Amino acid sequence: MLITPVPLPSELDLGYFGAVMRLNGIVDSMRIVQLIEQSVGMVGKSKRDIASQELLSKISQTEFHTFVAKHTMLPFQQGITSYHPDIQNCCQVNRNNSLPSGKRTARKGAYFCKNCVRRDQQTYGTSYWHREHQLPGLYWCPEHRIPLCYAKDQNAFLNSPADILDTSHSTVSYRYVKTIIDNQYIHSFLTISLSLLNRDKPFNFKHVSALLKMRASELGFRIPSGNKKKPKISGAVIDSFGRNWLSRVLPELTQQSGIVRTDSLDGLMYSSSHPYKISAYVLALATLFESPESALSALTQSDAVH
Ligand SMILES: [Zn+2]
Repeated sequence: MLITPVPLPSELDLGYFGAVMRLNGIVDSMRIVQLIEQSVGMVGKSKRDIASQELLSKISQTEFHTFVAKHTMLPFQQGITSYHPDIQNCCQVNRNNSLPSGKRTARKGAYFCKNCVRRDQQTYGTSYWHREHQLPGLYWCPEHRIPLCYAKDQNAFLNSPADILDTSHSTVSYRYVKTIIDNQYIHSFLTISLSLLNRDKPFNFKHVSALLKMRASELGFRIPSGNKKKPKISGAVIDSFGRNWLSRVLPELTQQSGIVRTDSLDGLMYSSSHPYKISAYVLALATLFESPESALSALTQSDAVH
């Protein structure tokens, strides 16, 4: 009989999987997937060594849509999409698709805050992986305002953060955090990202593209088939966020060679066939609107009128 804990608030699905392994004293991830399948009557459904989100929702006795909305990065990753934008994020394809660990997170590596570790140990008796800490561009804990600790290998999610506290390190220094923590554009980017993570329904990328085009035009930026002498929004994004931070969030924008590939941003307003990377949309929104609240309000209105 498997011991299955209740997922903690906003606990990342991969971390929850690791917690189930540890509680049951099993170190082989393929073996625990088999045991989970047996316990929920879905034997042989998964061929991966990480349990699917459906399996995890079943063992945690959480309704599938709720589990996806509260314990995965999908609401952020698919926050602006063409994929069934009218239904909840937790679309049918994810139900049966056992995504490998690398695709379940929104950036490489595993991030945690050492002060949150201590706080969670006192509150819940254990430390755990918070999904908010895995958002691209976040290098400090919003609550404790200290640099997040980092483990390069995503297998770290199978351990508790407390277990790897001594072997992990911060990706950035306190000094660097001080230079970026009060940047209003980065603050706006992270606030919009967090809001997407907490939504239960994605925005349609076509509506978002139209909104960006309208706003760019209002502010005098170049738009499709517009005056080519006007500045591109990519230039404003680089000026607002700085190359150093941007190179971690949208590496294709700031190449090592120093050549800037602006299509990854300026193309947002042109594409009608496929959505761009979620971070590109959020960068443009954070640049073109005076506050994250106004960007989110405009997004909601643009979706409502279509
Ligand atoms: Zn913290």
